[in-house]
Amino acid sequence: MENPPTFPRPLRPELAPFFCNELQQGFTAEGTPQAGYFGLDLPKQLLVDAWHLNASDIHYEPQSSGARVRLRVDGTVWDVAHLSREQGKVFINQFKAMAGIDPVVRFTPTHANAKFHMVEGKLDLRISLAPSATGETLAVRLLDAKCFERSILDLGMSLEGLNQVKDWLNQTNGMFLAAGPTGSGKTSTTYSLLHELKSGNRVILSLEDPVEYQMDGLIQIQINALQDMTFPEGAKALLRHDPDVLVLGEIRDSISAQTAVHAAIAGRILLSTIHCRDAVGAVAALRNWGLSGREIADALTVVVAQRLVRKLCENCRIAAKPSNLENSWFSAQGLRAPSRVFQPVGCDHCKKLGYRGRTGIFEVWGLDEHNFETILSGGDERMLRRSLARRDHNFLLDDALLKLTAGTTSLDEVRRIAGGLSPLSKRVVRRSS
Ligand SMILES: [Zn+2]
Repeated sequence: MENPPTFPRPLRPELAPFFCNELQQGFTAEGTPQAGYFGLDLPKQLLVDAWHLNASDIHYEPQSSGARVRLRVDGTVWDVAHLSREQGKVFINQFKAMAGIDPVVRFTPTHANAKFHMVEGKLDLRISLAPSATGETLAVRLLDAKCFERSILDLGMSLEGLNQVKDWLNQTNGMFLAAGPTGSGKTSTTYSLLHELKSGNRVILSLEDPVEYQMDGLIQIQINALQDMTFPEGAKALLRHDPDVLVLGEIRDSISAQTAVHAAIAGRILLSTIHCRDAVGAVAALRNWGLSGREIADALTVVVAQRLVRKLCENCRIAAKPSNLENSWFSAQGLRAPSRVFQPVGCDHCKKLGYRGRTGIFEVWGLDEHNFETILSGGDERMLRRSLARRDHNFLLDDALLKLTAGTTSLDEVRRIAGGLSPLSKRVVRRSS
């Protein structure tokens, strides 16, 4: 007779204690799944753990035998446990039931929203399922209201950057863009500005895809191509509502770029996000979408480029001289290595992760006459970067290095966001020009 499959015990009991306790009951001392144990409370226990950990996502990944469960915490995924095939089926069906999704396995991806009530509060969930070669996969996004309610003071911006943004908020004209890749905190930054703007006497309208968070004080419209609420239609509808402030979820193509720039030129305050590697990259992106230097210079006022890095746990981080390998990384970037860098260790406060929470790395670019002239004369990204470096502009890497030497984050985190982005430090740009 074939031996029953064995699974490792819960992999990270410190990461998901309730979940792992519950799961433990499903295994014998040898790690064999107990007959008749289906783990009916596993999803609930995992959601409570995920909430305590500030996890953003739960991943359920079927494998050739059983399934792996992982949590994304502060941008990094961690293995939590392995489930048997039977437990996995019940686990996935429990989530489907929460979202009102038919338990029959489908051959097309599907998603739905759900609410989960627990003693600690209410969780909004976006549940997505997709077929894979080894079975159905599940991803659960925990929609965190806190990330939409942050004050601009809590984003991790330097005092200088913060003052530039506050200056813009006082004048409020033209176009503000939050720039960066997916998951860099652009939406949090946009919402933190909206919290400041909505306290004034202004009509604020937003066009989003999807509306992730409902905010009092503004009118939010969701793009829905199935019901003819496409981006151009939505933008036209917004402009008919006499807005002072327009928020466009993301500039992602020529139509949204033209709409945003022309609304800003027509006197509206325009907030949006854009996918590019640094602040100056926004100009190149707008040009690629067919906007002239004149239009860009007339509309663009502030670009904030950003990334998110994990914050070292202050309870257990240690300072050390950079290793030879780390020193050579600094040399390769054209930078002088600091005398010490901080490293993660892991303690009970940080669930042995060495990190707690995340902070933003920012480049704040308030455009001035000098920049406008460079843009009008057709100057490319390199020219703009060089002219900014000559005038002591702080690039993304400059802010990252400040947070590294202060012990806020580790060199691993800085290297992760700096990968492929060099030169992003004023020191490097100056040297290469
Ligand atoms: Zn710690």
